[in-house]
Amino acid sequence: MDTNLLLSKLPGIGPYFAKRLEKLNLFTVEDLIHHYPFRYDDYSIIKSADNTQIGEVVTLAGEIWSIKNVYTRAGRVLTQAIFNDGTSSIMLTWFNQSYLTKSIKAGDHLQISGKLSKYKNKLSILAPSWEKIISTPTIHTGRLVPVYPETYGISSKFLRSKIHNLLSLALPSIKDFLPDEIRDNMLPLPEALQKIHFPKIMDEVNEARKRLSFDELFLIQLATQKARLIWREKPITKPWKIEKKDLEKFKNSLPFKLTSAQTKVLGEITFDLQTTYPMNRLLQGEVGSGKTIVAAAAIYLAHLNNFSSLFMAPTEILAWQHFETVSKLLEPFGMKVGLYTGSKKSVQADVVIGTHALLSEKLAIKNIGLVIIDEQHRFGVVQRTNLRQRSKTPHFLTMTATPIPRTVALTLYGDLDLSTIDELPKGRPKISTHLVPSAKRKDSYKWIERKVRQGDQVYIITPLIEESETLTSVKAAKKEFEFLKKEIFPNLKLGLLHGKLKAKEKEEVILNFRQGKIQILVSTSVVEVGMDIPNATVMVIEGAERFGLAQLHQLRGRIGRGIKPSFCLLYTSNVSSKDNRRLKYLETTFDGLKLSELDLKIRGSGEIFGTAQHGKWDLKIAQLSDLELIEKTKGVAKDLLEVNPELDKYPKLQSQLQKISANVMPD
Ligand code: ADP
Ligand code: MG
Repeated sequence: MDTNLLLSKLPGIGPYFAKRLEKLNLFTVEDLIHHYPFRYDDYSIIKSADNTQIGEVVTLAGEIWSIKNVYTRAGRVLTQAIFNDGTSSIMLTWFNQSYLTKSIKAGDHLQISGKLSKYKNKLSILAPSWEKIISTPTIHTGRLVPVYPETYGISSKFLRSKIHNLLSLALPSIKDFLPDEIRDNMLPLPEALQKIHFPKIMDEVNEARKRLSFDELFLIQLATQKARLIWREKPITKPWKIEKKDLEKFKNSLPFKLTSAQTKVLGEITFDLQTTYPMNRLLQGEVGSGKTIVAAAAIYLAHLNNFSSLFMAPTEILAWQHFETVSKLLEPFGMKVGLYTGSKKSVQADVVIGTHALLSEKLAIKNIGLVIIDEQHRFGVVQRTNLRQRSKTPHFLTMTATPIPRTVALTLYGDLDLSTIDELPKGRPKISTHLVPSAKRKDSYKWIERKVRQGDQVYIITPLIEESETLTSVKAAKKEFEFLKKEIFPNLKLGLLHGKLKAKEKEEVILNFRQGKIQILVSTSVVEVGMDIPNATVMVIEGAERFGLAQLHQLRGRIGRGIKPSFCLLYTSNVSSKDNRRLKYLETTFDGLKLSELDLKIRGSGEIFGTAQHGKWDLKIAQLSDLELIEKTKGVAKDLLEVNPELDKYPKLQSQLQKISANVMPD
């Protein structure tokens, strides 16, 4: 069987179920057989009912004596059956599955699994898993039964039977893409797939996991390291000339001394710029650690080497802010700074700052030597390639305030060199952070009003409703804004900021906030990244439980920028004790990297990058916290690429790699 076959073409699935399976990102046979269970129900003990204790989870084999649907007064349908295993009769009950009376008839021989209970003094099992005894071995009962991530209209039972059928058809034609010497003593691929879905004992699951996790991380390592090799294929024509005295001149023009971390990172960057390869570096540093200055220094060096630069920000607001900062820093050196956003376009400059409009449109900027990308991790993999093909490859510097745990950096960013600014400029006040119980909410509003009366400014961040800012989020923000304005702070000046405002309106709101004409800024979480308004000292985050820790840390980094003490108040609604404990970390931990590592442990990789990119980076089976396996796969990938960089000696591996490259390297 061809595993690239579309699921919509399969009898028993068809376009109807294929549409639903798409929600799970399953499109082909291959996708489906790599849709792994997340747990297993142990229904492996087959017993007789008279040998079973109440409360025990068992599998019984027997006959259906009767079955009927019963309609409750509340309008629910119960399907009730009498089942007898030769020792006792048991009442089976299913909820809202009236169609069962069509599939199960009196006289049918069934195997059922579930928890034995007593109801009205009769033996009973609620919602048992069941299957007819036609085939052995069974798949839904009487064994370790796989349970899958589900979606609307797609149950684990459905997935189980489809996967079972497909495995028997597809496994014989699946070729193991790992070369024998790499596979070593791990399971062959077909066997690993069989065992992950239908293990006989849990040990088999562990063995299968070992193989499949290896595959997942190994392919990512191969993809990123190959990207790195390709990046280095075409040397730059001339290394840049960088004089120590020029750098000194720049440093001396600053109103402060660079931190030692900034100096170290600037050293790493200048080193790259003087080699014959284009720089491809990721600069990570907490909010407020001073990345912009470092970027400005690099732009200045480009200028001295007669190159112009592009500086890309994720939003217009940030583009304006960078424009102001960079103008102040570089105009004294006679440089022209341009701005290019949806609403403003001036490009005759030595450095042009803008949104990604910068790359998508064909800008007539001459001689681009440096591209800086702020706050967009993977931004530009595709565009980067475009730029490469258009002219000579410029140097690339990507900046992020998202703390990236080492294991993640090793895996997902293996093609980039990593620099870290791991200290904040001296004298920054700690942001005193408090998880506010709902009972104290009223008091805290009063406290906020007092702070505003004393001249401080406040952000109120509305909850994250969806992944990206859509109309629903905007509506929620508007509603919150109206509520706060009318009911809570009728005597204060409030402003509203969200991503759907027109550029002009945004600019005005931010300007008003900056000038103090707005005292409380109600804002969605989407537009705030990187705002720098020192008089804003209080931040309220509504629905804090919906954010990851690292994300919350980034949000609170908007305050605590001046010398006044700053406060972050976390509001929650209906929060679980687990979330409560999680959020408490923010009261005591101010290290972004530590927080993102906690996220990784508690909530998985999706959280590190915020919900906007959720899923894209989620591994199916391997753990991004598994340092040992990450390092191992990295080593193996490196060795393999060293002997055969094209991988043409391994055609199966090569084609597998092509398939996944599209996924791990999104643009
Ligand atoms: P980031 O982009 O890393 O979040 P910014 O570059 O916006 O941080 O810098 C935050 C603030 O810190 C700015 O107001 C900047 O002028 C200031 N700053 C940067 N470096 C230093 C330093 N070495 N000493 C004091 N203040 C600094
Ligand atoms: Mg910044």
